Amino acid sequence: MSSNSGIQIPSRLPLLCTHDGVLLPGSTMRISVDTARNMQLVKSRLLKGTSLKSTIIGVIPNTRDPEHDSDELPSLHSIGTAGLAVQVVGSNWPKPHYTLLITGLCRFRVTQLLKEKPFPVAKVEQLDKLEQHTEGDQADGELGELSQRFYQAAVQLVGMLDMSVPVVAKLRWLLDSLPKETLPDVLASMIRTSNKEKLQVLDAVDLEERFKKALPLLTRQIEGLKLLQKTRKLRPDDDKRVLAIRKGGVFPGRQFSLDEEGEDEDSDDTAMLEKKVKAAAMPEAALRVCLKELKRLKKMPQSMPEYALTLNYLEMMVELPWSKSSTDCLDIRAARVLLDNDHYAMEKLMRRVLEYLAVRQLKSTLKGPILCFVGPPGVGKTSVGRSIARTLGREFHRIALGGVCDQSDIRGNRRTYVSSMPGCIINGLKTVGVNNPVFLLDEVDKLGKSLQGDPAAALLEVLDPEQNHSFTDHYLNVPFDLSQVLFIATANTTATIPPALLDRMEVLQVPGYTQEEKVEIAHRHLIPHQLEQHGLTPQQLQIPQDTTKDIISKYTREAGVRSLERKIEAICRTVAVKFAEGHKVSRAESPTEQHADQNTENKKEDSGIAAPPEMPIVIDPIALKDILGPPVFEMEVGGIKDKVLAAHRANLKRVIIPKRNEKDLEEIPPHVRADLDFVFASTLDEALNAAFDGGFPAAVSHLQVVSKL
Ligand code: ADP
Repeated sequence: MSSNSGIQIPSRLPLLCTHDGVLLPGSTMRISVDTARNMQLVKSRLLKGTSLKSTIIGVIPNTRDPEHDSDELPSLHSIGTAGLAVQVVGSNWPKPHYTLLITGLCRFRVTQLLKEKPFPVAKVEQLDKLEQHTEGDQADGELGELSQRFYQAAVQLVGMLDMSVPVVAKLRWLLDSLPKETLPDVLASMIRTSNKEKLQVLDAVDLEERFKKALPLLTRQIEGLKLLQKTRKLRPDDDKRVLAIRKGGVFPGRQFSLDEEGEDEDSDDTAMLEKKVKAAAMPEAALRVCLKELKRLKKMPQSMPEYALTLNYLEMMVELPWSKSSTDCLDIRAARVLLDNDHYAMEKLMRRVLEYLAVRQLKSTLKGPILCFVGPPGVGKTSVGRSIARTLGREFHRIALGGVCDQSDIRGNRRTYVSSMPGCIINGLKTVGVNNPVFLLDEVDKLGKSLQGDPAAALLEVLDPEQNHSFTDHYLNVPFDLSQVLFIATANTTATIPPALLDRMEVLQVPGYTQEEKVEIAHRHLIPHQLEQHGLTPQQLQIPQDTTKDIISKYTREAGVRSLERKIEAICRTVAVKFAEGHKVSRAESPTEQHADQNTENKKEDSGIAAPPEMPIVIDPIALKDILGPPVFEMEVGGIKDKVLAAHRANLKRVIIPKRNEKDLEEIPPHVRADLDFVFASTLDEALNAAFDGGFPAAVSHLQVVSKL
């Protein structure tokens, strides 16, 4: 069928020789270009040309695969498809090549090869009409009947697919709007056909012959699908399954295939997920969203980034404890015993906590304030929070707010990137697996602020009983009820807690401990706990009270007991190692006895036999020094740079800093350093003398207090 009317393709076409795949008119195909001739064609025609005409090339299929890019042009198939290059993408990996996206326009026949180098150019004859077909362009006779049969088969095929898939709906629409004579090409490129079969369709220049060649291919696809659907009916779960349209896109977009294989695995995954969604007992709104996402997921090819995004989302949704909660077991009398047993010297705090819990027990929907424990580090704020959870029989989760300066840390990111995540509240709920845990909001005074929104505002919403029953994390995008969560906050100071947050809280001060209290805490709690952690018993290791006092006064400087606990831990560790090695650390004798004993001990060691440690190992001052090193008198302080810069700004001339901090002066800009007079003090004397012009009279000689700074 030669064309005398309609749109004409150029009479000379550069030829792109392909050996894989057959481009049919009306379909779009990706072609990888890496041979020298084809590369040349892309460079000089597609990349340099500016006119629409220069983007039209002739695609010749079935060219021998050029193993070595030989000089000689292989013999060319006489019929090709003129195509419009709609996209050219270049890459250097793994070797230089281009990927072309080409839409087939019409058939052509090569009438004369005009040149072979650097790429072949031929004189061509256009074989298909290229024009806007009008309605009523109906063929009669056998052709008319054939085209009608073909059309009906195509309608039947599309009817077997899931119409809710947009691409299927579009295909259905195309069947009616495309001229019938284009259907064999369009459908042959979509259904499962071999290259050889496609080549036969391409070579069928005569339309009647083309219908005859393509119809059996279409019928074969229909039969194949029928068979598949029948076997699937036997599996009840799957009968609503979407028939696979793997790559999406229809003419004039990308090709798709009705390939069914390899889909079963995905459908198993989604079927499993569907079951989980239904079993997650989520509220109506969340369920609706999940089912919608699930439906989308089923239609998505796995290679799409959105697939992973949707899958992650659904997995998160099914894991959340929408209606899973633990049973509260609050017995106020038992709670008092438990809280007392866990902590020492906290009577006032415990009394308030018990009141709080008692009121909660009477009125479970308490909308009272949030308890906020304020005090220096290591005074047991976190540990009281943990005890409260234990008393109530609830799960405990700590949320560290120190340094959080982005709203999305609390409320999550919108689901736009693969790395999007829910915020710390929803993540915490997922971790504990119940919707009524105790959440400890640690260090609310260290919340930051940034351009990404004020996290305090998000936190306020989390804590507000009027709002938190429908807290919406940006990632989930559906409300989650937080009203059953018991929030407790901690802070080192109230000064930096955002006022609106502070307003919602009842502040309970947890002051530091006296030396005597610390000794009690160590002996009642810290030592037994550390012994247990290291698999030791009091029969193996004993730390006398005097040693504890030494640790407190000589090795720690803190309001709480965190460093004290660490030192005790270090002692337990060393002793545990000694036990493991079968050695002895020290004994409880007086220093003289000990020296006398050391000789025999040395002998034992010399003989190479590891003596079993004598029990109990008692940590005396000497053993303490062995384990922890010499006592620390001088301690450095933090923030020297900021402090010195502030002094400089305030026009001060002399700065007294602890000797240990001398090294920190390196961080201070030289011009600031040059303006100031630094005094490095290691005793109180030195500090006082430097602070007063002419010295500090009372500080002479008799006041030899060793500074602990
Ligand atoms: P904070 O949260 O105040 O910084 P932690 O709760 O982490 O302090 O306490 C540090 C350690 O000290 C924990 O092991 C804790 O059990 C212990 N601790 C602190 N205060 C007491 C106390 N009054 N009684 C018993 N143990 C305490």
